[in-house]
Amino acid sequence: MSFDTIGLSADILRAVSEQGYSEPTPVQEQAIPVILERNDILAGAQTGTGKTAGFTLPLLEILSSEKKSGGKRPVRALVLTPTRELAAQVEESIKTYGKYTALKSCVIFGGVKIGPQINKLRSGVDILVATPGRLLDHIQQRTLDLSKVEILVLDEADRMLDMGFIRDIQKILAVLPKQRQNLLFSATFSNEIKTLAGKLLNSPVLIEVAKKNTASEMVSQIIYPVDKSRKRELLTTLIKSEKWFQVLVFARTKHGADRLASQLSRERVPAAAIHGNKSQGQRTRALEDFKNNKVQVLVATDIAARGIDIDQLPHVVNYELPNVPEDYVHRIGRTGRAGHEGQAVSLVCIDEKKLLNDIERLINQQIPKVIIDGFEPDPTIKAEPTKKTGGQRTRQKARPTRNANGENAPSNKNNSRRRNSKRPGSTESTGNNQQRRSNAKKR
Ligand code: AMP
Repeated sequence: MSFDTIGLSADILRAVSEQGYSEPTPVQEQAIPVILERNDILAGAQTGTGKTAGFTLPLLEILSSEKKSGGKRPVRALVLTPTRELAAQVEESIKTYGKYTALKSCVIFGGVKIGPQINKLRSGVDILVATPGRLLDHIQQRTLDLSKVEILVLDEADRMLDMGFIRDIQKILAVLPKQRQNLLFSATFSNEIKTLAGKLLNSPVLIEVAKKNTASEMVSQIIYPVDKSRKRELLTTLIKSEKWFQVLVFARTKHGADRLASQLSRERVPAAAIHGNKSQGQRTRALEDFKNNKVQVLVATDIAARGIDIDQLPHVVNYELPNVPEDYVHRIGRTGRAGHEGQAVSLVCIDEKKLLNDIERLINQQIPKVIIDGFEPDPTIKAEPTKKTGGQRTRQKARPTRNANGENAPSNKNNSRRRNSKRPGSTESTGNNQQRRSNAKKR
């Protein structure tokens, strides 16, 4: 199928062709016509499949063809995303694909001043992209009217649930009109997603393009067994000897990410860190510098990396394996996107053997292991259990309170105060209204 016959009008097709897309990706081919027919959908599509255009293009088509007359523009489409980065990227796509339409869009998320967002909303917006916490701030402050929403999109819904957003989502649903079209995108179909879909969707069309928890075929994966104390040396050696540029490195903790970025920079490998304790400005700058090749390495924690969409990102390195095996799939999905090949390298020490087994069981595949000369693991070192860190998630139980970036917020009150005083925007996703209200005032 070509884009020309998929049901989009000339203004939108023109913007699509300017992006150089010759044909729709499988999720676009399936989702676009179904959404245009005004069906609800439940789409199982991982990031990198072209899912954003899969909902953005028909959304623009529907809203631009059904113009509402006179008065201030009401919000007619609401897109909810788990992270600020993803929200920003989705809105960027809306602007890109909608550049020849008269539709106005706006993105709102926490960690930045609320005032400019209020002004933008006041001026009238057709499509609103938001993270749940800041959206609720606006709802509570009555700076936003969602009573005219016709289409709701939940993007990366599994992540939103993982990050403890379910109550926020329920509160948002309560202020939306009952009659609306719902589009739910999720990389995985857990029982929680099925429950949410059951409540939210009306006779949905099921679209599934990527098999559950399968690693992209475009990504070659490799394990380099190495002692923990020599990981950094190995990483530097690989980056320098293989001449890797644009390397996204995953670290398990925020502190570890900072430390690794500084150490790499000292070794003349320009690096920046991105994680939940960085201000929005710092995060945006780090991402821009990485995209523009000003820094060679971006060290990220799992949640901060969510939504990072870089075309042709060639290398992902797991400096430490994630505690949650599904995160491995998300991590390596940052590369091998949109038909390009990518490489996912994991530096694995003896302590991570169990984590590796869990990952291999999940993806149902043995990852090739290669020992690099000079970095042979010391056989006398005994495994120690990996520490549970801020990135740890427990899937079955109620989620721990999380901060704006989905990283676990501290459970103890003293810690919590310390963190919040450092970063006033940090309770965006906690679901703690009182705290959110007081932070909103501060913001
Ligand atoms: P997404 O899964 O939405 O994060 O998109 C992944 C990447 O695919 C983005 O960088 C898009 O620019 C790109 N993309 C989206 N649609 C197409 C298409 N039809 N052809 C080629 N690339 C695309």
